[in-house]
Amino acid sequence: GAMRHLPYFCRGEVVKGFGRGSKELGIPTANFSEQVVESFPPDISTGIYYGWACVGNGDVHKMVLSIGWNPFYKNIKKSVETHIIHTFKEDFYGEILSIVIVGYIRPEKNFDSLDALISAIQEDIEEAKRQLDLPEHLKLKEDNFFHLPEGKIVNNH
Ligand code: ADP
Ligand code: MG
Repeated sequence: GAMRHLPYFCRGEVVKGFGRGSKELGIPTANFSEQVVESFPPDISTGIYYGWACVGNGDVHKMVLSIGWNPFYKNIKKSVETHIIHTFKEDFYGEILSIVIVGYIRPEKNFDSLDALISAIQEDIEEAKRQLDLPEHLKLKEDNFFHLPEGKIVNNH
């Protein structure tokens, strides 16, 4: 199920992805390690989610997240990738990313063209922004989870 596990709190290191070219599309996605992905509930739905994210002990930003099938592992393992809705000055590979997954947007889809994919993601981002402005979702931005000491790995505290 998608909603049963939400809100879902997760923290882990940002690792190199498998070069799907997300950054070239203007939508970089910070990938979690296989170990962090394995700690997710096995029955969590693939698809697109929205929530809050913070790098190290930086500010908390809106994000969209994809839980998908990992092509690197012939689609038998999942990948979890976070696009933070913020412009960073530098990459942050190796840093600790803390996220809370708040809501579900849609299942995974195949697109006929790159343009169709990019516009779907832009709609996902707009939907995430709207949803996260709702009072019940805004309050998770202030959750103590984001102020726990950096480096402490606490999945679904
Ligand atoms: P990879 O295949 O290594 O995941 P991407 O093209 O998806 O490469 O780029 C992801 C990297 O871009 C992240 O690991 C992070 O270091 C950097 N990055 C910069 N800005 C953002 C952002 N707004 N959201 C997510 N990652 C970002
Ligand atoms: Mg990526």
